[in-house]
Amino acid sequence: MTSLDLTRGLGVCVIEAMSDLAPRIRILPDQVANQIAAGEVIERPVAVIKELVENSLDAGATHIEVEFRNGGKAYMRVQDDGCGMDPDTALLSLERHATSKIQSADDLNTIRSFGFRGEALPSVASVSKFTLRSRARGWTEGTEIRINGGKLLERKACGMPVGTVVEVANLFNTVPARRKFLKTDATESAHIIYLTRLCAVAHPQVAFRLLDNGRVVFQSPACLDLRERIGEIWGPSLANDLIPIEWQDDQNPEMRGMRLHGLVARPGQGRATRRDMITLVNQRPVESRTLGYAILDAYHGYLPRGRFPPTFLFLEIEPAMVDVNVHPAKREVRFRSEGTIRRFVVEAITDCLSRFQESRKVSLPQPKARPSDTDQAAETADRDKPMADPSLAQSDPRAPAAEVAVYANPLPSAVPLPVAHAKVDPAHTDPPTDRPSPKTLTRTSFEQEPKTSLADWRYIGRMRERLVLLESADGLVLLDLAHARQRVRFESVVEQIGREEADSAGAQSLLLPISLELEPLLCTTLETHRALLARGGFVVEPFGRHFYRIEAIPAWLDPGSAESLLRDTLEQLREAGGGANERLAAERFARLAAVFSTRSESTPDPAAVMRLLADLLACQHPHTCPRGRPTMQLLTHAELNRRFASTQKDAFPR
Ligand code: ADP
Ligand code: MG
Repeated sequence: MTSLDLTRGLGVCVIEAMSDLAPRIRILPDQVANQIAAGEVIERPVAVIKELVENSLDAGATHIEVEFRNGGKAYMRVQDDGCGMDPDTALLSLERHATSKIQSADDLNTIRSFGFRGEALPSVASVSKFTLRSRARGWTEGTEIRINGGKLLERKACGMPVGTVVEVANLFNTVPARRKFLKTDATESAHIIYLTRLCAVAHPQVAFRLLDNGRVVFQSPACLDLRERIGEIWGPSLANDLIPIEWQDDQNPEMRGMRLHGLVARPGQGRATRRDMITLVNQRPVESRTLGYAILDAYHGYLPRGRFPPTFLFLEIEPAMVDVNVHPAKREVRFRSEGTIRRFVVEAITDCLSRFQESRKVSLPQPKARPSDTDQAAETADRDKPMADPSLAQSDPRAPAAEVAVYANPLPSAVPLPVAHAKVDPAHTDPPTDRPSPKTLTRTSFEQEPKTSLADWRYIGRMRERLVLLESADGLVLLDLAHARQRVRFESVVEQIGREEADSAGAQSLLLPISLELEPLLCTTLETHRALLARGGFVVEPFGRHFYRIEAIPAWLDPGSAESLLRDTLEQLREAGGGANERLAAERFARLAAVFSTRSESTPDPAAVMRLLADLLACQHPHTCPRGRPTMQLLTHAELNRRFASTQKDAFPR
């Protein structure tokens, strides 16, 4: 079999073959160089899929099928019914910098197509076992070209319908250094699935089908509109909750020609991660800080801090206003005028959300969530009243899961903390049956013997909803109810999950199971962490493809919040990827649980406050909430004396 070095360009190879001038050994460094360059564009399987799908879209395909095995490492295939290539074009397409899409550097300013570097096919072909089959319109047969590691193996005619199929096997087999950097099959699969979904949502009118190891991950026929496509892929419940946005501002000369459209979350409809905050520029899914900030900015006041709205936002602008050539994989874009774009997007979303609020005021004079409503609705109702106190908004109990990992807040050093090693007085604790006795918590950080007992504490009163004033042996203590509850819940959940087996006392069975529809990736996450969730109180059973039933929930949890907590947990666990070990997974769950446990809590009476205090003082880390914010502040007797008494004689009697 003749072996051509495709990576050097066909023309050069032919001359070499004829004149036989070049010593064979010169080819190697070149090829190595090519493989390295290829590695930069094609860093992992998903990059191959992306390039191939973009080629199919550029070719005007109406049906695209993507298949992969073993996270794409073993095999990938992208098949389309686009314009196809005639035999010469097919061969030419495998030459480096051969592209039909631009002719000069100036064309980069007017790019409308997805591809433009003319590098993808040769790059992929140089690091895999590669087969291209293509038939152009007007041709009776197609061409098949087989390449292995950049060497042309075979080119022959083949029977096939109009369109193109590219198969890529054994990616990076000849480049062990690259292969080493690939993640687990599950992680690589997750990337491919996510990307394909983005491509599908960017082009609702194109039918998509995605297969993983022969199993259909999703398939969607050509859709009439975006909402239908989102419903097909993300599920109807999300799709139906989104509100449409359509914005242009031709009055403003800066913004002329820009358009923002798509679907966005309604007020209060937030997620724990930014994964579903999807932005596209000229139909290209992109990550853009500018757009991300603009969205969060616009949702300020409509969502608690740290929650992320699902959005499917399409920005259309002049190609000259955006630089798509800043990222090797074209994932990021840079705008020529970031400020204008940002203002445009903020205005558009703000207008959309306030109109939505207005329309609801008219149609629903008393927006009040029924108890049976989903958490989202409850959140929406909450958000209907503007946030009066920004400081409270900040420490919203539903706050972020994404941020909870930060234990940054140092404790204020000026105010000494109460000695927290109080003995738990059984008379006062009387723990409600729904939580494990605090005494079962292991104490590791205690160095001193407890100095005070709970009997030394006295309830004084409450102020500003969630602050409790207490007198302790050391002075006046201000206790933050929300933070204290979160700490107690966090440790009790970690303890509960850490047990060998699920404890039925930790769960409440639901008379009416809650049905749950999950996107494929979350199904996988759920399966992975099923046992852990069960120990945390969630019993979830499969109920058809992508459907589950929540049969039991943690005993302490308000059933109305069950689905949200489970979803947020799954999203967090998915975000952590396959690498999340049991302990970290348990902590993520517990942090979310902590946040959720303060949502439905009613105002406690003094006895309940004392029970909470007992539980708190029995915690391993009683001084902070799981996010590191203080649970209490102490004004010592000495401090009180310093402030009020001028002489020793004057001091307050103890
Ligand atoms: P680029 O997309 O940057 O032009 P590629 O290496 O991805 O570079 O593709 C090279 C050329 O091969 C394209 O410009 C196009 O003409 C042709 N081509 C690639 N894939 C397809 C396809 N699926 N259908 C039709 N033509 C294709
Ligand atoms: Mg391309």
